[in-house]
Amino acid sequence: RLNIKKITTGSKSLDDLLGGGIETKTITEFYGEYGSGKTQICHQLSVNVQLPPERGGLSGKAVYVDTEGTFRWERIEAMARGLGLEPDQVMDNIFYMRAYNSDHQVSIIDDLFTFVPKNDVRLVVVDSVTSHFRAEFPGREHLAERQQKLNAHLHQLMRLAEAFNIAVVVTNQVMARPDVFYGDPTTAVGGHVLAHTPGVRVQLRRSKGNKRIARVVDAPHLPEGEAVFVITEEGIRD
Ligand code: ATP
Ligand code: MG
Repeated sequence: RLNIKKITTGSKSLDDLLGGGIETKTITEFYGEYGSGKTQICHQLSVNVQLPPERGGLSGKAVYVDTEGTFRWERIEAMARGLGLEPDQVMDNIFYMRAYNSDHQVSIIDDLFTFVPKNDVRLVVVDSVTSHFRAEFPGREHLAERQQKLNAHLHQLMRLAEAFNIAVVVTNQVMARPDVFYGDPTTAVGGHVLAHTPGVRVQLRRSKGNKRIARVVDAPHLPEGEAVFVITEEGIRD
């Protein structure tokens, strides 16, 4: 655990749950139902990684790998303003990459092994890590191949995190009731995809209005419990 750094999420309560924020040298998975805040957290972290250390950042840049086409520059602008940062500069420090299929997604990450160290990148986001794999290898008959490819991809991301001491954040959409087996065995019962990869798993769920609840799963080094945060126009807050 040498030299591990942390990036603030924007919520003190969520940071505390994570032991201070999102860590470098590992993968953090946010999983949960639609609208639970996975994409908003990814946007916020891409802004916050740029903050200086005294404000909870790493003075670094972000790579945002978007597989679903849900990235919005307007959200980055609003979140930058919310922190008193210059929006144009913040947008310049986010390298946006659209992945069109799972092979493309894997090749983008391959290329990051040279791109990341050359460009002061301290955060890589993959939102979502599972959608292409689910679409291209549907059903039980493709389960083994899908799992094998997804696990290889997750190991590739883990090596990237460790090699350059960066944070890697991935998302995974699951049904509202992951405790019920709903016939998609990509995810373990419980919902996350990191079953065979080390990393931190954070379950998100919707609550009243703009409130969201986060829970860290299977992390012996982190405290048990839940964190409540809100999604506002300016981003993730307590
Ligand atoms: P999916 O699984 O469909 O990708 P997700 O977990 O990524 O869902 P998000 O897109 O992160 O969900 O969250 C969407 C929610 O974020 C909206 O329902 C809304 O509550 C909130 N949100 C988005 N934009 C704004 C905004 N400009 N101001 C306030 N809240 C916003
Ligand atoms: Mg999303």
